[in-house]
Amino acid sequence: MAKIHFSKLKIKDLENIFQENNIPKYRGKQVFEGIYNHFAPSFDHINNIPKDLKLFLNQNIDSDIPKIVEKSTSPDGTCKYLLRLQDNNLIECVYLPYQKRNSLCISTQIGCPVGCVFCASGAHGFVRNHNVWEIIGQLLAVQGDIKEKLTHIVYMGIGEPLLNLDNVVSSLKLINENFKISERRITVSTSGITSQIYKLADYKLDITLALSLHSPFQEEREKLIPTAGRNPIQKLFLACDDYFKKTKRRITWEYILIKDINSDEYHAKELSKLAKKYKAHINLIPCNKTDNYNHNAPSEKEIKIFTGILEKNKVEWTLRQKKGQNENSACGQLRANHLNEYENL
Ligand code: SAH
Ligand code: SF4
Repeated sequence: MAKIHFSKLKIKDLENIFQENNIPKYRGKQVFEGIYNHFAPSFDHINNIPKDLKLFLNQNIDSDIPKIVEKSTSPDGTCKYLLRLQDNNLIECVYLPYQKRNSLCISTQIGCPVGCVFCASGAHGFVRNHNVWEIIGQLLAVQGDIKEKLTHIVYMGIGEPLLNLDNVVSSLKLINENFKISERRITVSTSGITSQIYKLADYKLDITLALSLHSPFQEEREKLIPTAGRNPIQKLFLACDDYFKKTKRRITWEYILIKDINSDEYHAKELSKLAKKYKAHINLIPCNKTDNYNHNAPSEKEIKIFTGILEKNKVEWTLRQKKGQNENSACGQLRANHLNEYENL
């Protein structure tokens, strides 16, 4: 029988296992503190538990966490991790230290089935969904490396979270319970899968949902996001309204600014109209060039004109700081660059 993975357990579950095996209940707390508060990379590294308990744990519970294969650190402190899973698949996550925040951007799938034209994550196809412990393993691997607690989690790495909804929701609940990161400090980003937004709303979570809009025009959106045709903007907005009604959480729209594609005054005006109507907050993301998408972000002056129009229309916006600017800064690029090199390890 396959061993249960440690990250899928809550403290009560471990205490129950211990009680069934005549192990004192208080040991559960020690093990949890060892892994989650003291960043022990395995049961053997927890100092205050006896050897026979380590043996019991190793025999009955899987504590394997993804291995760090490579780290790429930018001058601003952003750190991109390339991790290897048990089956040798490579995944990526990005640590973003910013003032008092320790955010981690995590992946939910190996590759991405959506295949947006600007994104390196979809360019190499789709392999499979992450398991719950492969999602949580990213937090454990990075906390173990930085020896600090994470404070915010964004599901904005490789993959479309809503196409792996069950595992994403289970992981959210475990992150909340075991890492003590409140749902309000967690954001899930989607390219816009209408039916799944309805399902997510039914969980009534306190998380922030971010919708990757990228264009206020249906036809243009379809050119950027291959699944946009099946998920028309108007139907997406209805799903977002339902999400707001059920959760009382305002939706954020993500909008990649791509030079000469979606960042002129005409787009800014139309985007403002929609944002006002749907009371959305807009998060602008300057486009990162990738191997397969030779487009840049607009100039600072062009971005100023764009944001000026949003401002004039009293639309709330933020401009994502250009973080992690090195040759691998676009989402999915580190993995893409290393696929051949590490595929057969
Ligand atoms: N699949 C989900 C979440 C992961 S992508 C989604 O699409 O929302 C997270 C964000 O990274 C999305 O808003 C996506 O548009 C953005 N992104 C992808 N490639 C990018 C690039 N080359 N430059 C800037 N942002 C990019
Ligand atoms: Fe997938 Fe999101 Fe990248 Fe689109 S932007 S290919 S949905 S990860």
